[in-house]
Amino acid sequence: MRTVLVILDGLADEAAPGGRTPLHAAATPHMDRLAAAGTIGRFLPIPPGMRAGSEVGVPSCLGLDPDPAAGRATLEALGRGLELPAGTTAVRCTAVHLTGAFGAPGTVVRAVADPRATFDAIAALGSAPADGVRLAADPDGRHLCLLDGPAGPETAPPHDLVGLPIALGGTPLRADFWADLARRLPGDLALWPWGGPVRRAVSAPTGASPFGAVVTAVDVVRGIARRHGLETPHVAGATGRPDTDLAAKARAALAALAHHRRVAVHVEAADMAAHALDPAAKSAFIARVDRELVGALAAGPDDLRVLVTGDHGTSSRTGRHLDGPVPFVAGPVAALRRSGQGRKWHEAAVADGPVYGPVAWRGLLLGAAVPCWTVPC
Ligand SMILES: [Zn+2]
Repeated sequence: MRTVLVILDGLADEAAPGGRTPLHAAATPHMDRLAAAGTIGRFLPIPPGMRAGSEVGVPSCLGLDPDPAAGRATLEALGRGLELPAGTTAVRCTAVHLTGAFGAPGTVVRAVADPRATFDAIAALGSAPADGVRLAADPDGRHLCLLDGPAGPETAPPHDLVGLPIALGGTPLRADFWADLARRLPGDLALWPWGGPVRRAVSAPTGASPFGAVVTAVDVVRGIARRHGLETPHVAGATGRPDTDLAAKARAALAALAHHRRVAVHVEAADMAAHALDPAAKSAFIARVDRELVGALAAGPDDLRVLVTGDHGTSSRTGRHLDGPVPFVAGPVAALRRSGQGRKWHEAAVADGPVYGPVAWRGLLLGAAVPCWTVPC
């Protein structure tokens, strides 16, 4: 049996009052046919006590033990192919709007709606905005800063700070430097540093993933895969944005099955839509994943099994990550070649079922027998 796992970043969500979640509202006929022919349930990608984010949830999806101490920004630098000399600390820096001066008590963080709109201002800071600092600006807003010197305390990611006073986010390493950058940026724009390592060097990874390849256009996921020795095929047209070429990603996953029994495909834009507080856009992207990615896997080999889940939830009401269980579906490729109704698959449809922790999830990935159970539609 071969497996393709589709990881929808930030998949799970909260229902609008009296309404439905983006997954519930999305037309997902292919996933629904997988659900009718296979297994649905809940998976807990964020172990209790860890912060909900892809740097934790993606390793869990891949059957690995998450290692938050590796540092999100360090993984992103690895995924982007940036060199990290010894003694360098990588941090992510995200453009945000602030209601007051950086570091002033009571200053509240507001998300930047379109990161590409602020790219020119960030890039104008140059690649060396201060002594001992390198800035790698990114058109999609995933800026990285490489600082000479020791790692600092962990700071909260901006999507967990939206609408909250910045003091709750912790004191960043070199706070004066970030305050100076904020003064050099136009208007109320600032860079908020986060995702730095808890320790400086990335330790050797522990454990082996049952996957052989990961198809992704996002640096942190590429970095996780590379750290564990998994192939990361380049896919022309894959962007990590809503305009990504999902059919090309499906073709790349099926091609990788020629060499690997298990291949994962990561898609990002559902998470982005939730951060932008846009449940309709999240729903539309999930429907497109169903049509153009999951549906296209029908062309796979007859022994293919298709799994779909998320690496964590993201609330399109608050824009914050959620650490609860996420729904999953697993079914045979034959289900994708049939027509018919299927069984609608979403958060509430699996709410009464057991929650798969890392051991049960790994068993599912390996094709071990899992308890067969049903829930009301
Ligand atoms: Zn996110």
